[in-house]
Amino acid sequence: MAKGNVFVVTAPSGAGKTTLVAALLAADQNVQLSISFTTRAPRAGEVNGKDYHFVERAQFESMINAGELLEHAEVYGNYYGTSQTWINQVIENGRDILLEIDWQGAQQVRRLFPDSIGLFVLPPSVDVLETRLRNRGKDSEEIIARRMAAAREEISHVDEFDYVIVNEHIDEAVRDIVSIVRAERLKLPRQSARHVDLIASLKG
Ligand code: 5GP
Repeated sequence: MAKGNVFVVTAPSGAGKTTLVAALLAADQNVQLSISFTTRAPRAGEVNGKDYHFVERAQFESMINAGELLEHAEVYGNYYGTSQTWINQVIENGRDILLEIDWQGAQQVRRLFPDSIGLFVLPPSVDVLETRLRNRGKDSEEIIARRMAAAREEISHVDEFDYVIVNEHIDEAVRDIVSIVRAERLKLPRQSARHVDLIASLKG
């Protein structure tokens, strides 16, 4: 059986990544989202096992030591990481997986899965980015400045990715991400593994 693809989606916060990924998952049943483990506290409305697996720091550290994580990173003082076992099972079954992770995790995944496909989501302008970051709540100038700096840091890694989606109009950005996933599935190595018998019989 042809193995599934590994898609890595990275973006600064404020780029609209979560909405985009949700739309892709709704449009394409063959893509499964990896639920990360994190030590950060759940935000209002977040559900354990759906948005993240929320764990204590000690448990996260024992997962690192036991080699259970494919990759992990510390972001804003909290740990985030991806389960190794789960990913292997899904791709062996021929399904695609999507990881929503930061640039540090993306670098680790690229080393472990050289065939993984990296997508970077950009906001359409600095002004839009700043507006989106400001509208997240009544935060101080200092916190907003810190978020802008973190966003610029993330964006400085854009050149490491295979595809770039500029999220100005969400409908268009959704079409972009759906097309990328479909096109990657239609590449020759995947198709020839998937359709061995068909191709052999048609060749005669
Ligand atoms: P948030 O706390 O806002 O949900 O996520 C903060 C950052 O952590 C985002 O940039 C997000 O992409 C990243 N992140 C979430 N899960 C993982 C993960 O499993 N591994 C890595 N490396 N980063 C993650």
